[in-house]
Amino acid sequence: MLRRLAFLGLLLPALAFADYMDHFAQRDDVGPRKAPSLGDARLLLIPVEVKGFPPIDRARLERFFSPDDEAGFVRFYETASLGRYRPRVTIGPTISYDVCPLPVTQFPRCSVARGDINAFSAGIDLLREAVRKTDEAGIDFTQFDVNGRAGAPDRWADGVMFLTNVPFGGIAFPFAYFNRGDTLNGGVGGPLVVDGIRISHFAVAGDSDVLVMVHEFAHLLGLTDLYDEAGNYAGLQLSVMGAWLYDPKIVLPDAETRFRLRWANWLQVQGRQRLTLRPVETSGDVARVGIGDEYFLIENRGPGAFDQRLPLRGLAVFHVDRNVQSVSAQGSFPKLGAKEGDFVNRILDCVNCDAWHPYVRLVQADGAFDLENNRPFVPADDLFTPGTFFLNDASNSARSKSNPVNGSNFYSGQPSGFALNDVRLLADGSIEVTLDAPSSGQCEERLCAEGEGCAPVRCAETLKTGCSAATGTPLLALCVLLLEQRFRRRHRR
Ligand SMILES: [Zn+2]
Repeated sequence: MLRRLAFLGLLLPALAFADYMDHFAQRDDVGPRKAPSLGDARLLLIPVEVKGFPPIDRARLERFFSPDDEAGFVRFYETASLGRYRPRVTIGPTISYDVCPLPVTQFPRCSVARGDINAFSAGIDLLREAVRKTDEAGIDFTQFDVNGRAGAPDRWADGVMFLTNVPFGGIAFPFAYFNRGDTLNGGVGGPLVVDGIRISHFAVAGDSDVLVMVHEFAHLLGLTDLYDEAGNYAGLQLSVMGAWLYDPKIVLPDAETRFRLRWANWLQVQGRQRLTLRPVETSGDVARVGIGDEYFLIENRGPGAFDQRLPLRGLAVFHVDRNVQSVSAQGSFPKLGAKEGDFVNRILDCVNCDAWHPYVRLVQADGAFDLENNRPFVPADDLFTPGTFFLNDASNSARSKSNPVNGSNFYSGQPSGFALNDVRLLADGSIEVTLDAPSSGQCEERLCAEGEGCAPVRCAETLKTGCSAATGTPLLALCVLLLEQRFRRRHRR
């Protein structure tokens, strides 16, 4: 019951508790704290070039941010979102500086070290200046607001990026939260306001690195980091917010991210179901087992225009626990800390830093816990492919480094009711699988009141088995028995 109440709490509008980068613990703050992530969007990228560093290759920028680049920024977001989010990017005029615009005493060689607190105030001034110069160069900012929380212009920019050629990693910067100075329209503090359009935060990347921008921009959409800042392990695999190292083989979002952003074709499981999960990059198919704040998500991942590092196709299984990192235990939105300012805590003490109990954990088919022990991700061993399965661990004990039991149990050790069996790869890349979930009460949960991705597209439908027509109880029991025997036979091999 408590779980249910917490879930309903997410539906209540409470902008006072809005926060950045909370993975949609708060869903109603698109505009002031998040960029819209559904529908058409018009984004602005501001290139900032400082002399003495490798010049920005504008032709490369134009290409990577054009919808024509099959492995570029726009196609990435269109693919990840199932075409539900359709950004178009305008590359603004290059803002040029003859010398480093940052104070030379604090930033010799114009290099900004990761975590340098001095960069905050200097960065605020630099971002404000870049927006002012872009405005003065004749750019009309009203064109960058075609979307908003209700899908219509809302006088909040759809998304603004800042790409520079100076040595700097990347950051999603909540400008409005930190700004105590000029807003460019005569005001003081909060968002910038240009041509009547408010800008709350920026995605920033240095070294002219457009790949870093793919990740940083995802923060503007409300996502938090899912890699391990402390480096005890790489963090979440198979996630643009996770262990991806910004190489050209861009990694798609993990299933939880897809689910939260309403980019999934949500298939809620109840009881035992035989499902066909199509490749997620073309179908959005995400099966969910369990409800509330702790559950499992299953999707079909494999190589395509993205995820090219995967040598094969298989099922990725994610164990999600939204209770992780309750940095604001008080207040209405404790999960992931969605109170304003909690994002600072999430950056300092990230939600995925505990390899054994992160917010999102990739369950590995081989049960060897290589990822938790900072050993490499091996897709052939870690994805669920024919011959693999995932069951409850009978000890019902809590998993930890000293007790590495590979069961489908909750983190408490209690059985979750989740089982995965009988994986079959089809010629078209789809994967058939039998999933077990609790037998009732699974179909009512909603992410939002209306719109795509708010509700399961299917729940509790048994598909593609000879037993699907079984409705009478004795007949159903017989079918379940036959299925059980079939599984046992396969698992013995
Ligand atoms: Zn990040």
